[in-house]
Amino acid sequence: MEKLYINRRSFISQLSMSVGGLVLARNLHLLKEQPRKLGIALLGLGGYSANQLGPALKQTQYCRLAGVITGSKAKGEQWAKDYGFPEKNIYSYDTMSQLAGNPDIDIVYVVTPNGLHAEHAIAAAKAGKHVICEKPMATTIAECDAIIAACHEAKVKLSIGYRLHFDPYHQELMRLAKEKDFGLLTKMNGDRGFVMGSKAWRADKKLAGGGPLMDLGIYLVHGACMGANGVAPLAVTAKYHTKTRPDIFSDVEEGISWTMEFPGGSVADLQTSYQHNKDYFKAEGAKGWIEFKEHAFTYRGMVVETSRGPLNFTPPNQQALQMDDFAQCVQLNKQSRVPGELGKRDIIIIKAIYNAAESGKKIMVNV
Ligand code: NAD
Repeated sequence: MEKLYINRRSFISQLSMSVGGLVLARNLHLLKEQPRKLGIALLGLGGYSANQLGPALKQTQYCRLAGVITGSKAKGEQWAKDYGFPEKNIYSYDTMSQLAGNPDIDIVYVVTPNGLHAEHAIAAAKAGKHVICEKPMATTIAECDAIIAACHEAKVKLSIGYRLHFDPYHQELMRLAKEKDFGLLTKMNGDRGFVMGSKAWRADKKLAGGGPLMDLGIYLVHGACMGANGVAPLAVTAKYHTKTRPDIFSDVEEGISWTMEFPGGSVADLQTSYQHNKDYFKAEGAKGWIEFKEHAFTYRGMVVETSRGPLNFTPPNQQALQMDDFAQCVQLNKQSRVPGELGKRDIIIIKAIYNAAESGKKIMVNV
């Protein structure tokens, strides 16, 4: 008879594989019992819903577009036709409490301007629906707390629209940070901006919570924390750019540069602006670097090189993966890998960056 020689490490690894196998088998079994795709209702039918989330929901495996919440009935009717859901699943912002009685809808995805996220996410939770909330999670830390508390109280799950956690290039950045393949990523820099030609809600403090830092800079804040292996900075310094269009940017910044200092000595120098087009990020360690040369934080067209050569992953539909992952979290009663707490962390960092720019001082970050 063949003798089996198993050392302690391989025994533990085999044991955990078989336990993992059992859990997986049980979960697959659960999924088999629930073949119904979960129903998502998009709340706010602007650019991101129309151009990204709606089309992505045609590619999802575990969820589908089952309804909408919109200020325009006509728009809702057009979406019902385009996506094949019944007109009874069209709601307005004022009739959201009625979602409670609609079993077609399991998840509400909040895609309105930032200043409305808290009101809309809380209304969805109160109607007993799981919530995905777009970035930035809210415009104040208190609003983030209120969303988290409302979801907790209603026993519904909450996640933030951080789609890049489902992108292979950004997963590689996370891997490099975790495994220290290039050493500790001590030096990071990035720039994200687009030219805003006329006043829009993104330049209205009440609806946006701030200027490009809230809308675009948040990607750099989040990316730098990824490069720091998921850790928040200890301190930040910041400086506003001089305004060239005070007519548009009357109550928000037009641009801002800031530095994040991480535990272990990593430093990220970043900037964001509504006055130039850029989408770039680089992280370097003692043994190598990764450079997101183009479309660093966008849905398509990423050009990424490393000190070992270019990366050539097949770009997935980030939003489809993100929504499918959340649907599985709901089905399997798991916490999202991009939970409300992560959204709140970024708002805490952003508030510290604004404080640093206002005061001219280094601000400690209290996450
Ligand atoms: P948008 O201006 O195109 O759409 C906003 C929608 O909200 C519109 O349908 C509008 O009618 C509705 N709305 C309801 N109340 C409103 C009010 N008082 N003022 C203005 N609009 C109101 O914006 P968008 O680009 O779709 O952005 C919506 C949210 O999605 C924002 O929080 C944004 O940060 C986020 N977003 C995320 C990504 C991403 O890649 N994750 C990309 C784009 C936008």
